[in-house]
Amino acid sequence: MNDQLIDFYRREHCPGCASKDIDTVYQLSYADESLKQFIESFYQQRMDYRLLEDQVYEMGKCPHCGLLFQRLVLNQTGQAALYGEWVDSQKSLEKKRYAKAKLFRQYAGQLETVSRLFPQAPHKIEILEFGMGWGYWSRMATAYGYHVRGLELSPERVEHARSLGVEVMQELPEPSPRFDFIYASQVFEHLEDPLQTMTELSQRLKPDGIIYLRVPDARGLEGILKANGWQPEMDAIHPLEHINAFTRKSLSVMASKAGFRVIQPPLRIDISKFWSGLKREIGDRWLNTHVYLRKQ
Ligand SMILES: [Zn+2]
Repeated sequence: MNDQLIDFYRREHCPGCASKDIDTVYQLSYADESLKQFIESFYQQRMDYRLLEDQVYEMGKCPHCGLLFQRLVLNQTGQAALYGEWVDSQKSLEKKRYAKAKLFRQYAGQLETVSRLFPQAPHKIEILEFGMGWGYWSRMATAYGYHVRGLELSPERVEHARSLGVEVMQELPEPSPRFDFIYASQVFEHLEDPLQTMTELSQRLKPDGIIYLRVPDARGLEGILKANGWQPEMDAIHPLEHINAFTRKSLSVMASKAGFRVIQPPLRIDISKFWSGLKREIGDRWLNTHVYLRKQ
């Protein structure tokens, strides 16, 4: 087992493109009162702030790919504590379990796009949700007929996803091209070495396979950080957690380093479908033998 103490280490190369040139754009001691207040109220009594007091919240920027990233990050023991104990997992679960319909419509929209990217019948498509969390996206993808597996480390998230009927893996399988599509939403901003992870995912993707990455948008943050300093609402550079702050550009550079190119998703608005859509609406309202009945 891991008997390392919780500590920080310094990232000496750009996590997006591996360049060794890094500019320091911002530094703030964790002893700073506003940072301390934010972190203590965010993690509450689940963490001991003394672990952070001598450390520095430092943002580096890569002059080559433009990635903004936290240079000092928690070691493995620290990350295990962060995601296993400090993060409020009840709150995180409730955010998904009690989400508004908008979230599920977003998932459905993404799956509509998947169905346009892969014309084959869904049961022929192998999907990996990398960093699955509680399993709500995987559950919906399963309902669309895809063969989905979710990769997740946290035992309580794994257990919850299984209770939703989701097939779970707790580690990456041996490298071999087995997946058609890999979905990673709100994951890459947390990773120590996202470029390395891209390579590992690539080894498990079929030729012509597709990866979808979604991360918080860090556009414009560098300027605000330099002008006004760190502010609690800057979620894309959340201390300890959002250690890589991508923009569309730095995300694309990282992807190309790992052998990917950005493609445009197929249009979900199809003008030629306008008339058939109108016909469907008319049918739904007046012609089909079906009714929606509300009790008086
Ligand atoms: Zn870079």
